[in-house]
Amino acid sequence: MKISELFQTKSCVFSIECFPPKQTTQFAAMQQTLRRMKELSPDFISVTYGAGGSAGGVSTVEVADFLQKELGILPLAHMICMGSDKASAAQLLDKLRAAGVSNVLALRGDRTPLRPESPNFHHASDLMAFIRESAPDISVSGACYPEGHPEAPTLLQDVANLRHKQENGAQHLVTQLFFDNGHFYRFLNMARKAGITLPASAGVMPIVRRSQVERTVALSSASLPSEFTRMISRWQDDPESLHKAGIEYAVNQLRDLIEGGADGVHLYAMNDAAVAAEVYDGIRDLLPEA
Ligand code: FAD
Repeated sequence: MKISELFQTKSCVFSIECFPPKQTTQFAAMQQTLRRMKELSPDFISVTYGAGGSAGGVSTVEVADFLQKELGILPLAHMICMGSDKASAAQLLDKLRAAGVSNVLALRGDRTPLRPESPNFHHASDLMAFIRESAPDISVSGACYPEGHPEAPTLLQDVANLRHKQENGAQHLVTQLFFDNGHFYRFLNMARKAGITLPASAGVMPIVRRSQVERTVALSSASLPSEFTRMISRWQDDPESLHKAGIEYAVNQLRDLIEGGADGVHLYAMNDAAVAAEVYDGIRDLLPEA
């Protein structure tokens, strides 16, 4: 099934992101996590590529295969331009197809010293065009940034660049995480005005530990509203209360997004099934039947 089709039948599509474990010995525990996440009836689960460390550990394909075949959950496999070329991308698409995966989130990938630039794909939209031509059976999603991608000179320019994804075959978008829903609503308004009609899943990450804050901000460039920083300062020495407050913050964000008409909500649960379940409990009454 194509993920984009879900948006035609559901008022709000609920999804979760996971990342493959770094060690193959951790795969059994990961499978248990995914089994627990299945109880939350996600419409799909996305599986990162490289971001959580798939090199040398469990691959994105293996996790997507497990989701599809063992759990019957629709996987969205991430795939990146960095370090790949047409031949390796075609190989990966073959492996995904063999695993029965038919949805790919095509990304450029973050620039790191270990990842060479691709000779063929400079932007995610180049990879999308390649998939559309060489694997038309695979449905493509793309990333978008409610506060603008950090390399883009302005949000307006980033939104203009986003059009390339739609023109090159993307059928659905997933947003970078954000802590202020105002950014999401403003961005969506700009995108619709720019002619971008794709359904968008709004990404939210529950912050339940102080140590998550710095890393999350560094990786996502998300800005922190004062309500959020006040929460962190207030409970920084009380881990239990911070956990509770972090769940409540994410639940409030998600409830507002669902009630505000978001096409979908995407939970960055950091492979923590217990956190995902706590958040789900706070929003399940607003989600349509699975
Ligand atoms: P692009 O669309 O190529 O955009 C990158 C920059 O180039 C932007 O500033 C954009 O405005 C600009 N641009 C785009 N097209 C053009 C054009 N034609 N001309 C000029 N400028 C242009 N990283 C991983 O390594 N693995 C993952 O699994 C992963 N999953 C992610 C999931 C989500 C939902 C998100 C939001 C990000 C994820 N990332 C992941 C991080 C992502 O790879 C980075 O944010 C990366 O820096 C940009 O990826 P992109 O696909 O948006 O790139």
